[in-house]
Amino acid sequence: MNILKSKYLLRDPDNVIEDGAVVIDDDGLIEFAGEFKDISAPESYRIIDLGDSAIVPGFINAHTHLELTHLHKSIKSNGNFTDWIRQLVDRKKGWAESEYALSVRDGITSSLRSGTTTVADITRNGIALSELLTSKIRKSLFFEIINFDPASAKETINDFKKIYTAIKTDELLSIGLFPHAPYTVSDKLYRDCKEVSEDLGVEIATHIAETKDEVEFLARGTGHFATLLKDFKMLKGWKPPELSPINYLKNIGFLENGCILIHCNYMTEEEIDLIEESKSNVVFCPRSHEYFLHEDHPFSSLKDRDINIALGTDSLASNDTLSILDEMKFIRNHYQDIKPQNILCMGTIAGAAALKMDDRIGRLDPGYYADIAVIEFMNSEVSNVYDGIFSQDSECILTMVSGEICYDKNGLAPFSN
Ligand SMILES: [Zn+2]
Repeated sequence: MNILKSKYLLRDPDNVIEDGAVVIDDDGLIEFAGEFKDISAPESYRIIDLGDSAIVPGFINAHTHLELTHLHKSIKSNGNFTDWIRQLVDRKKGWAESEYALSVRDGITSSLRSGTTTVADITRNGIALSELLTSKIRKSLFFEIINFDPASAKETINDFKKIYTAIKTDELLSIGLFPHAPYTVSDKLYRDCKEVSEDLGVEIATHIAETKDEVEFLARGTGHFATLLKDFKMLKGWKPPELSPINYLKNIGFLENGCILIHCNYMTEEEIDLIEESKSNVVFCPRSHEYFLHEDHPFSSLKDRDINIALGTDSLASNDTLSILDEMKFIRNHYQDIKPQNILCMGTIAGAAALKMDDRIGRLDPGYYADIAVIEFMNSEVSNVYDGIFSQDSECILTMVSGEICYDKNGLAPFSN
């Protein structure tokens, strides 16, 4: 059994313990989290002393595309989303499977180095799957579903089922479905995906209400998306539903029993009501949101209601790092009215709840997986631990998933499981 000890321990965002310690059992579960002095006979354990740092629950990236990691800085944004998509498609043309695999591998490494212990990763056709399956990070793999032609929806679902049947899930791996967006997935396929997710008991998520172009496309069938889909020969007799994005999802039954909604940048108050009623989760990607020059995200309005808001980085094709710690610092700098405890909650407990894993990860309570990040900050005399965690120079120095050390910047750990 092992002990991590440090000046601060946050069992959860509201529960700060000074001179804290976490006892981790041989199965990678937390046996104790509290004051170090309350551990009897600590000398019988192997101890890692982390000094003035803060031990916090590992961060949860509720939306990313690790396979796009190698597209960092290779796409120019002028705020036109469909131009960005055209560049994305063009850059990926000719990528061999090995390029995707390396991209995923680098994405996992940089996630772990920034204290992220769980990723909800979008994977296309299970490409680079072995890289993901053998990695030590905890992952919810969401299979990306794209097909705008309702006539072949069934084949797309069958392709997913074949992959799903072949994969063995384990403690570090769960599977989800990810119909990509209303401009790449037919309403028939959305309904089929929802049905399959309920039959299999897996999570379902989608990009929604991301751009004003999407709102126009669903309302009137015009604008940049209409042009893009015509160019890609994907429109074939399609008629717009004449609904706003969230109303569209409601209308096709996608919100029933809840789901995970990525972005939700452009919504009316009535649509926010629909999200609340359905108990769906929203994932906010703050720095990707800024990259695309979107209008202010309505997340304060979402927060005022009983809506769970998790954080995602999206991919490095629209962000600078895959760090949820960086996303939280960004929120701290840009939304001064949000309490730091709430920001930390978005990067931990809310992500766990969105992925329906909040009874196992997101906090450091006995019986939970030892998914831990250790954050060091230069000025240990800060007035409170949150200022330290969100200070510009803070960084992750150690990451543990299920009790296994996956990153140890300073070589502090004299052991590994
Ligand atoms: Zn995305």
